[in-house]
Amino acid sequence: MTPDSVIMVDWSGGNDAGPKPKKDAIWICEAVRGTPREPVYMRNRSRAEHWLGDRIAGALALGETLLIGFDFPFGYPAGFARALTGSDDQLTLWRWFADRIVDGPKANNRFDIAGEINRRFGGTGPFWANGLKRDIDGLPRTKASYTNPFPERRAVEHLAKGSFACWQMAGAGAVGGQVMMGLPVLDRLRRRFAGQVAVWPFEPLDAPVAFVEIWPSLTLGQPPVDRIKDAWQVEQVASAVSSLSAADLRAQLDVSAPEEGWILGVRATLSPPPLRNDCFALPAGIDWVPVDDALALLRSNLSCVVADATVPLAQASGRVLAQDVVATRSNPPQANSAVDGYGFAGGAPEGVMRLPLLMGRAAAGVPYDGDVPEGAALRILTGAALPRGVDTVVLEEDVTPGADAIAFRGPLRRGANARKAGEDVVVGDVALRAGRVLTPADLALMSAVGQGDVACLAPLRVGILSTGDELVEAGATAGPGQIFDANRPMLCALAQGWGYCAADLGRVADDRDALRAALDRAVDRADVILTSGGASAGDEDHVSALLAEAGALQMWRIAIKPGRPLALGLWRGVPVFGLPGNPVAALVCALVFARPAMSVLAGAGWSEPLGFMVPAAFEKRKKPGRREFLRARIRDGAAQVFGSEGSGRISGLSWAEGLVELSDGAVHVRVGDPVRYVPFGSFGM
Ligand code: AMP
Ligand code: MG
Repeated sequence: MTPDSVIMVDWSGGNDAGPKPKKDAIWICEAVRGTPREPVYMRNRSRAEHWLGDRIAGALALGETLLIGFDFPFGYPAGFARALTGSDDQLTLWRWFADRIVDGPKANNRFDIAGEINRRFGGTGPFWANGLKRDIDGLPRTKASYTNPFPERRAVEHLAKGSFACWQMAGAGAVGGQVMMGLPVLDRLRRRFAGQVAVWPFEPLDAPVAFVEIWPSLTLGQPPVDRIKDAWQVEQVASAVSSLSAADLRAQLDVSAPEEGWILGVRATLSPPPLRNDCFALPAGIDWVPVDDALALLRSNLSCVVADATVPLAQASGRVLAQDVVATRSNPPQANSAVDGYGFAGGAPEGVMRLPLLMGRAAAGVPYDGDVPEGAALRILTGAALPRGVDTVVLEEDVTPGADAIAFRGPLRRGANARKAGEDVVVGDVALRAGRVLTPADLALMSAVGQGDVACLAPLRVGILSTGDELVEAGATAGPGQIFDANRPMLCALAQGWGYCAADLGRVADDRDALRAALDRAVDRADVILTSGGASAGDEDHVSALLAEAGALQMWRIAIKPGRPLALGLWRGVPVFGLPGNPVAALVCALVFARPAMSVLAGAGWSEPLGFMVPAAFEKRKKPGRREFLRARIRDGAAQVFGSEGSGRISGLSWAEGLVELSDGAVHVRVGDPVRYVPFGSFGM
């Protein structure tokens, strides 16, 4: 919908606030195409209800459309509506409250209703805090004895930093009272104009009037000093929403998890769009896929699957930045000295320079409180803000200090040994871009430019599963024909090293039902699943068989050595990488294919391993058709390769420190020829 007019309402749960415009009453502002009218003051809810009723009736008579926003939750956390009314429909809950809430200008029964509800659930929650002098049976005054049978917050509130839970009925900032005193009013308006009002996001917005939930404090800062905050906020939001293009408004109204309600403008990243079912599909007619084509397909068909999760700065290393970091402060914030020495103005010409020395000094964190007159000098230490009158610093070692004067030899250019304000980063600059994997150095940069909590993405959860009847756990007793599971610890450690949460999904035998059950369990714990073994087309290759059965198998026969076909697919929406069972092939395929793919899934974008050319210390011929990766290391400036290319030789993986990559065509490497070497470090290992 594109509303003709946008009306924003700042609600209140309190009693009549009297005739003089005050904060903590109700404020309403209407705006048309970016231009707000004067906010109107409503001393109580009954007046606001009348005003809104008249306004809606007027709009309907004229054939206008309205979008009306209210600053309180339209729903409670999952499960509450059902527990109280027998239905998950929040609008049924609206009616439930409308039938019970008694509202007058001086008093209302919201605390009694909260107590009544609590008593149904044992009398210690979900509501708490009592704004009245009298005690209310079942309504705890504090959280000391409080228990909540429901989630504390709605999904959207996890994304809206600083939001209050609707269970808190009183206290600064609490929203619980407003919800209870607001929903009955909305319910009555909805019934009075039946069929003409649609409530977002519970109903399709195909009526002339839409009710939406807003939360101005989420995005707005402090009001100008001469304005009442609530009046200013509704004006800001009304004018911003009414100036949105139809497409932008549609995007804001498009949320994926509407059951509990949503706050307009909060990015609905809790559940990013799922991967497309055909994301691993190969173009028709392809038999052997060249490595580069396989990589290009992964790169273009995958997308980020993790949600936002803000963390304190100190915990942000290794996490993926969800939003650009914009400097809220310049670095350095003020001009300061780069050395210990003496500050003065204007530089010095060739020859000996004598300057009278002022009393006192400027030190880091302890600025000099005064001006330095033209022609005088002041003792200054590294990091100290330059006092007024100083733009140049002469190095301590170059100075002969006297009791009340200093002497040194010029020339010294103006500005020497001084750092300019913002010479590193200027306030308002983008210091770091979204999608970056944060390094320890980035924590320093973010700190310097004033960042506190950091808007990151949740770490990718990587499920790791081994398959094979022959496998036993490392350290257990192995019978004849059994081998120790080597892939799982390796892949778990790799995923952890890449900054992901490794979910160890254990081992399963070559049994289709067991594997199916394991994958079913895995989808709740993992955003991506790495399996090893059982991924070819043989009788015991159940990973491929199951993915085929689910209609989701893509067998990628990639022209790579070492490697077997990669089985790719989605299991109930979660991407599965079926890696080869051989540990050498499993590792190479994980490094070459799974790593960049998972980087995209984790929101960090595609990542190319950095390699470089080095002379070969070996000789080797290869036929055209497959790209080859050899276990390699550099000694004496040349690349050595491991003696055996056998895919089961795990010791070669430990011997190696990187891979030599030989191109797809025929190659004859002689000793001294340049070859491409990619250190394991470039693969993040
Ligand atoms: P598969 O792809 O299941 O046919 O396995 C190929 C080879 O890799 C077989 O020799 C398996 O025994 C071996 N293998 C499979 N999984 C593992 C594992 N987790 N650890 C060590 N070797 C494995
Ligand atoms: Mg097997």
